[in-house]
Amino acid sequence: MDFTLSEEQIMIQQAARDFAQNELLPGVIERDDAQKFPAEQVKKMAELGFLGMMVDLKYGGSGLDTISYALVMEELSKIDASASVIVSVNNSLVCWGLETYGSDAQKEKYLSRLSTGQCIGAFCLSEPEAGSDATSQKTTALDQGDHYVLNGTKNWITNGNSADIYLVIAQTHISKGHKGINAIIVEKGTPGFEVGPKENKLGIRGSDTHSLIFNDVKVPKENRIGEDGFGFKFAMKTLAGGRIGIAAQALGIAAGAYELAKKYSKERKAFGTEISNHQAIAFKLADMHTQIEAARHLVYKAAWDKDQGNDYDLSGAMAKLYASQVAMDTAVEAVQIHGGNGFVKDYHVERMMRDAKITQIYEGTSEIQKIVISRSILRD
Ligand SMILES: Cc1cc2nc3c(=O)[nH]c(=O)nc-3n(C[C@H](O)[C@H](O)[C@H](O)COP(=O)(O)OP(=O)(O)OC[C@H]3O[C@@H](n4cnc5c(N)ncnc54)[C@H](O)[C@@H]3O)c2cc1C
Repeated sequence: MDFTLSEEQIMIQQAARDFAQNELLPGVIERDDAQKFPAEQVKKMAELGFLGMMVDLKYGGSGLDTISYALVMEELSKIDASASVIVSVNNSLVCWGLETYGSDAQKEKYLSRLSTGQCIGAFCLSEPEAGSDATSQKTTALDQGDHYVLNGTKNWITNGNSADIYLVIAQTHISKGHKGINAIIVEKGTPGFEVGPKENKLGIRGSDTHSLIFNDVKVPKENRIGEDGFGFKFAMKTLAGGRIGIAAQALGIAAGAYELAKKYSKERKAFGTEISNHQAIAFKLADMHTQIEAARHLVYKAAWDKDQGNDYDLSGAMAKLYASQVAMDTAVEAVQIHGGNGFVKDYHVERMMRDAKITQIYEGTSEIQKIVISRSILRD
């Protein structure tokens, strides 16, 4: 078994680490406070090739593997999970979905723009009454011959306002249930398509999360991805890969919080010695380090499975379930190790604690990951 990263992977990891330190760290507290979308930083990430990491070179992508993508997600998330979720959605949900299941014409038209960051994408599945139960789609895309007409509302959409290209999941044949769902590409500016108000969030406040409203939105038939009725499968397949990105995000948040806590524990003194010399603190760090390393193995294994062409539904779900728990636990303990300083914004760990929570919720809650895992293991 070879656990070593390739030279190329190490180089990409270092590039992401440098970028996070030099470009994401300055202003991260202010962006979180003001709920400011990191537009300048997104442009720079596009220049580094981080927005279309796994996309083929012929569509302007970086042509890299999933492990490289996970490494970049981890490094960015150590500093700014609001920025990394933009990368995750664009790569895993939008670019990967289009490249894998889109028609040649759709790839020609949209993929290069998305992978080079000329525009960014959004993935629109959730609705006010369809979150974990994604089969309950109320948004309709009625077949009108050469076009669809969309009506309905999507909720909590990442990149909701900043995107230009939206992959929208909607019900076409109501009587067919989830087999009547389609995935349809909708461009910003299409008449009847409106971006709703921005959500005021607990964490990842720099990412813009919006509801979307579709009111008699006419979309040409050629914008449907895959065969008629493929939309639900498209969403599930795409989310299975997306979970690896979110697992890597969780890993990054955990590792970032741990690094800050370790550094602080060697500087802060109490009872005449650095707090790292108190066993209660040293043991917390030991637990954090061990759990992060275990999460890292699960995340890289899931990414490796995807690169090898193995099934990654199970490994991706396990990686997300575990890494998100580790992110939450580690961030809470990092605040504890910082004492009162952990409770104020300047020390970063309180933001990480708020950011960590979302990794247990989006792209399938932890409860949903347990359903995926238990179904998979009980099938044998
Ligand atoms: C910041 C943010 C960004 C998001 N970005 C996007 C995006 O870009 N695109 C998109 O489509 N969606 C997005 N979402 C939506 C997200 O994926 C959903 O919130 C999530 O899937 C959970 O759905 P829900 O909120 O409706 O919760 P519900 O499904 O109502 O679940 C509520 C609770 O019940 C539990 N539960 C539900 N069903 C079961 C069950 N069968 N067994 C056990 N427990 C169960 C859940 O685990 C949860 O704890 C985002 C959400 C947030 C908050």
